[in-house]
Amino acid sequence: MPQAFLDLRQVRKEFGSFVALQGIDLRIAKGEFVCFLGPSGCGKTTLLRIIAGLEVQTSGHICQQQRDISLLPPALRDYGIVFQSYALFPNLSVADNVAYGLVNRKVARADSARRVAELLQLVGLPGSEKKFPGQLSGGQQQRIALARALATAPGLLLLDEPLSALDALERIRLRQELRTLQKELGVTTIMVTHDQEEALSVADRIVVMNHGVIEQVGTPLEIYREPASPFVADFVGKVNVIPARLSQGELRFGNMVLPHAGDDREVRVYLRPEDVLARPIAPGDLHVFEALIEKIEFLGSYCHVHVVSPALDLQRLVVYLSLNFLSEQSLQVGSRLALKLLPERIKVF
Ligand code: ATP
Repeated sequence: MPQAFLDLRQVRKEFGSFVALQGIDLRIAKGEFVCFLGPSGCGKTTLLRIIAGLEVQTSGHICQQQRDISLLPPALRDYGIVFQSYALFPNLSVADNVAYGLVNRKVARADSARRVAELLQLVGLPGSEKKFPGQLSGGQQQRIALARALATAPGLLLLDEPLSALDALERIRLRQELRTLQKELGVTTIMVTHDQEEALSVADRIVVMNHGVIEQVGTPLEIYREPASPFVADFVGKVNVIPARLSQGELRFGNMVLPHAGDDREVRVYLRPEDVLARPIAPGDLHVFEALIEKIEFLGSYCHVHVVSPALDLQRLVVYLSLNFLSEQSLQVGSRLALKLLPERIKVF
């Protein structure tokens, strides 16, 4: 990265004797949409709050556009923020909520009204100036919170689980709108989320965190296809974990033998459900094994099919099969089927 827009160096945070963040190093480019992803308590919100100046790091530095902001109070930093709970002022109209930051900056009334109208247009709620937060749905309130965060045209947009209080459909709609808007404005954005699908669908890069450290930083595809650790493989997407042995350049589990470099040791094979195929399997095909269907979870157009394989030491696996395939092949609980795994997709830890 030539020159980072935001540069975090060895950011550490202690709460008493508890270490919430351990030496975080991270560089974010101008215009990037970055998601902090991780389980509850991993430190993602604390890191966002430190970037916002709402929490002070125990040690380490933060530079935004080459300016050291490590000890600047929030008001002197250049960002807009949206929180999970709508955090709008209930007694102020939509217009006054959106204009809040502009009033503080002593923007003239007419200019402020023009800007509010423009922002409401931007977030898809034109003409809603006179309404009050209580008259709006959750999704509409978050659109207003977004308009308020963008009012002063900040260089950085911080989003702390902004979609998690919304229902599933609204969440998906708003995350796509957010992404489109972010691209259009080119505003560097950091969103905290514990929802992996959300991170995969909107981020340019995902920062996967666990126990106060960064486990991996990468594009959604890198994180999904090339997880750097068992934690990442497990946390992002579904995965089958199979005990195996590396011995003399071969990976062995059940009757499967695959060439694989590495020292002799016990390992675990990580294999995504979609990397086990039910077809096409041709005679003489390699890496095929038989399995018995134990359970079918119906999810609409496709199903999570739980199988057990005698050929793989009675290992249980989940594979994704289409409803059409299951009915064409008259497959049901108790049926046998041939599966083929994609050895190039296997990760060994
Ligand atoms: P969640 O998704 O649940 O919000 P998170 O990854 O955002 O999780 P943080 O809120 O950053 O996690 O918290 C990280 C850890 O620091 C947690 O164990 C939390 O209990 C602890 N923590 C956060 N704020 C404080 C505080 N003010 N005092 C003491 N401990 C805190």
